[in-house]
Amino acid sequence: IEQTAFQNDKLAMLGKIAAAIAHEIRNPLTSIRGFIQLLKPYLDSIGKQEYARIILSEIDRANDIIYEFLNSSKPSAPMTQTVLVGLLLKETILLTESEAHMSGIELSCEIFDPYIMISIDVKQIKQVVLNMVKNAMDAIQSAPDQRRGLIKLTARREKRFAVISISDNGRGMDRATLNRLFDPFFTTKEDGTGLGLSVSYRIIRNHGGTIHVDSQAGEGTEFMIYLPLIEVKE
Ligand code: ADP
Repeated sequence: IEQTAFQNDKLAMLGKIAAAIAHEIRNPLTSIRGFIQLLKPYLDSIGKQEYARIILSEIDRANDIIYEFLNSSKPSAPMTQTVLVGLLLKETILLTESEAHMSGIELSCEIFDPYIMISIDVKQIKQVVLNMVKNAMDAIQSAPDQRRGLIKLTARREKRFAVISISDNGRGMDRATLNRLFDPFFTTKEDGTGLGLSVSYRIIRNHGGTIHVDSQAGEGTEFMIYLPLIEVKE
């Protein structure tokens, strides 16, 4: 699936809106924080002091969320590092293994060529793969029938690209969903943000790569991330 120019414009706009909103929300949060601190000495019981402490820590949490969101939606230049794709996948699996296990989902990883190297922003690419594994878990858990959930990660090379594949046997997608998949804010989930894939798409494009999707409604989905390869001579 190729991103259209229109979708790219929407992504750029999303980044700008997000930055503007985040900035505008941060200012009042900073003054709320300051005034609560000024009030604190006048609070005459341990209970009231505790309320103030909770308010301050919740303000800090809101600030953290804004910071994270800005980080993930702004089109920053990648901080590149050269890594082996296999190691990257194994590290990413470590982060999701226990959650998969608790949900009774089998997570497997197969590296077809252990020497595939890519030059990437590790944090960003991990975020992309993690997001896809989480989507795969959601797709399995929301499948209409009970099935043994399987998520498979593989790494292989194809011409000048390293290909990371994330496949699941979850609910799959119909045409309408496939067409809108990478649109900012498109979600079919009650508590979804619809930002995961649009941000992922932008990250992969910033790396000179692309994403392909293959899905069958009721059967499952495969995401393939193509990233430019670094050639290694034996
Ligand atoms: P969110 O997860 O918040 O909905 P995403 O951008 O990550 O946002 O995903 C957008 C939509 O794409 C999801 O709501 C879901 O409908 C669909 N989707 C993504 N990954 C899968 C998958 N592996 N299987 C089925 N549907 C998927």
